[in-house]
Amino acid sequence: MMQETRQDRIEMPEDVILRVDNLTVSFRTPSGLVRAVRGISFDLKRNETLCIVGESGSGKSVTGRSIMGILAGNAIIDAGHIYYDGQDLLKLKEADFYKIRGSRIGMIFQDPLSSLNPIMKVGKQLTEALILKNKMTKAEAKKRAIELMHEVGIPEPEKRFNQYPFQFSGGMRQRIVIAIALSMEPEILICDEPTTALDVTIQAQILDLINKLKREKNLTVIFITHDLGVVANMADRVAVMYAGKIVEYGKTEEIFYDPKHPYTWALLESMPALKQKGQLRAIPGTPPNMLFPPKGDAFAPRNKYAMKIDFEKEPPFFKVTDTHYAATWLLHPNAPKIESPVKDLVRRVRGEKDEL
Ligand code: ADP
Ligand code: MG
Repeated sequence: MMQETRQDRIEMPEDVILRVDNLTVSFRTPSGLVRAVRGISFDLKRNETLCIVGESGSGKSVTGRSIMGILAGNAIIDAGHIYYDGQDLLKLKEADFYKIRGSRIGMIFQDPLSSLNPIMKVGKQLTEALILKNKMTKAEAKKRAIELMHEVGIPEPEKRFNQYPFQFSGGMRQRIVIAIALSMEPEILICDEPTTALDVTIQAQILDLINKLKREKNLTVIFITHDLGVVANMADRVAVMYAGKIVEYGKTEEIFYDPKHPYTWALLESMPALKQKGQLRAIPGTPPNMLFPPKGDAFAPRNKYAMKIDFEKEPPFFKVTDTHYAATWLLHPNAPKIESPVKDLVRRVRGEKDEL
């Protein structure tokens, strides 16, 4: 997704808001080092939604948290850069770092309660954020907080201003968390599985809200999810992660209609919307233990198309189009030509949907 860079300060292309370069993160544990993120690189383009998708444990949250600067205490950033505005965020002094983290980049999580203080009225949590950022008076902050509650779709915000988080439903609570994130007027919003804990209908409403706010506020969004069904409705581009690496990335259409990595195929095959003959196929096998990351292509042991080389040598990114790359030996000119087993399936499902 980018050229390799080595400095603490770089020139960034006009359309790139954030550049992650060779990010490598491990965690110290009693059993040894967990290699959570193993050299990932991507450019985040201004005003796009980039979805990071992959099974549980693939390193999505660690990636988001690294950008936000909120890794757990046992984390070690072994290598890499995260450039924002040409500056490596990993090299910033703490004070400057919090300035950027607190105002330019916001993050919301799966469980809205984890972002809220349970014993503080939601109105106060919002006004505190506003006062911190904008040096507003209390009255101004209250007015703005109620506007924000309205913008995120909370009915009767004046009434709800003085309520506690427990008095809100899961969906409404997630809206409050989004309002707090927006009170900082971020340019980048990182959404880490923000709808995973919600019912399906509420999920759709929160996704619509994120899309609406993105348009209205010119946000750039990193949307992290394990659910490809969500990706289709959100993403401009998709990065597929497996075992701490990006294995494929491209525009949403490229990932859905012309996927190249066997892991992306497996993810697509396991999508509920694509289920065949009434049964949902889970991806066979389990992800690797990241205390001992496998050699070669980490997906090889679960990949029925795996070749000898997949167990031995890590595949480089092969170019599919100018915007689409996949790290699989199947794209090597000498590899057998194997067509995606889900290609027709995805087209058929889309065709059926178009007729509805
Ligand atoms: P996901 O893709 O599900 O968001 P994560 O990014 O949370 O995955 O985790 C990636 C890997 O890092 C997993 O193997 C996870 O167990 C491990 N990990 C995450 N946080 C810690 C931590 N604080 N200590 C040890 N291991 C961790
Ligand atoms: Mg996660």
